[in-house]
Amino acid sequence: MRNVAIIGSTGSIGTQTLEIARDNRDINICALSAGSNIDLLEKQTREFKPELICIGTYELAEELKLRLKDVDVRITYGMDGLIEVACIESSDILVTAIVGMIGIKPTVAAINAGKDIALANKETLVTAGHIIMSLAKEKHVSILPVDSEHSAIFQALQGNTHGDIAKIHLTASGGPFRGRTREELKHVTVGDALKHPNWSMGKKITIDSASMVNKGLEVIEARWLFDVNPDDINVVVQPQSIIHSMVEYRDGAVIAQLGTADMRLPIQYALFYPERRYLRGDRLDFSKLSEIKLEKPDMDTFLGLKYAYEAIKTGGLMPTVLNAANEKAVALFLQEKIQFLDIYTLIRESMDNCVNMENPQLGDIFDMEQWVYNFIESRCR
Ligand code: NAD
Ligand code: MG
Repeated sequence: MRNVAIIGSTGSIGTQTLEIARDNRDINICALSAGSNIDLLEKQTREFKPELICIGTYELAEELKLRLKDVDVRITYGMDGLIEVACIESSDILVTAIVGMIGIKPTVAAINAGKDIALANKETLVTAGHIIMSLAKEKHVSILPVDSEHSAIFQALQGNTHGDIAKIHLTASGGPFRGRTREELKHVTVGDALKHPNWSMGKKITIDSASMVNKGLEVIEARWLFDVNPDDINVVVQPQSIIHSMVEYRDGAVIAQLGTADMRLPIQYALFYPERRYLRGDRLDFSKLSEIKLEKPDMDTFLGLKYAYEAIKTGGLMPTVLNAANEKAVALFLQEKIQFLDIYTLIRESMDNCVNMENPQLGDIFDMEQWVYNFIESRCR
């Protein structure tokens, strides 16, 4: 039996994790959490019968208690509740399907409690990668990547030796604005940016894909997950999202993982690693595939990627600044308070004005997150 807890169970990754649970009778869902989608959390609780659930606020928790009077489940709320879900005694593995830096505390708590982590919540690794990876080593827990590119790299690494890695080729679809100029990006709308060509995902990561900040965050995520130098991580645009990423070894061999654009595969691989199980769904049909295109990313237009390389090379708190500025800027863009290109401007200004430090601890990371939020609020008044 695989005993699984999920933070962020009502989102894109969360609901697909529950699809895997529906298809695999030996998955037991111990605990679930959601921000505010009370209807779906109620439905999930009735179907999967977890011991514990958590919702964003006290008021929503009280409402859920009324609705779930007939069900034997403990109901918590807020950050304390998230941490309880993350550390629940009966679980073996935590799926971090929550979005943003709010995932840091529950992830750290789960590692301290000895839980393996199926990690989708990349913002946690981007900002606290140095803390998470060394803590995981100390506690002998596995960090299993759910992000499709990182799962592909992880799959391509099986049976090989870390010292033989020459390069990681991280693929990117290029998003809905691939090929556009800066001028053409000036007035794009939220609706335009939410139209991803290949993947259906939560709103924040979909905007990040349009700006290519997502690929920048993924370079940093790969740096921590696979302990590689950022200079050895090469981003390749592969518009059809068929090659999910590749590892090049020192003898010149390149090993890739290919497949359809379906997040259930990396989720299932993380949950049952090293076992591969049957997965319902489409297969690649090479006879219908006319081409697999590969291009260089346009880092002068899609500055998110350029800034991310700069942030990880600078180190310290700079990846936190990049990530926090992006989280805030994307929220403002989704509320139609700023234009698309302002996302890059706000990241740039935050990176230029922050005071960096080496080897930050968790408290320093949260302080910097707050500084960035205040800084951007003062800029956008
Ligand atoms: P989503 O927006 O669809 O879902 C986010 C989940 O987190 C929801 O259940 C929501 O209720 C919960 N949540 C959000 N804010 C919360 C808060 N303040 N308190 C408690 N819960 C909160 O997001 P998603 O697309 O599933 O992405 C989740 C993570 O996985 C992100 O870090 C994303 O970058 C990463 N990821 C997603 C995909 C994908 O295909 N969706 C692919 C790769 C990586
Ligand atoms: Mg990805």
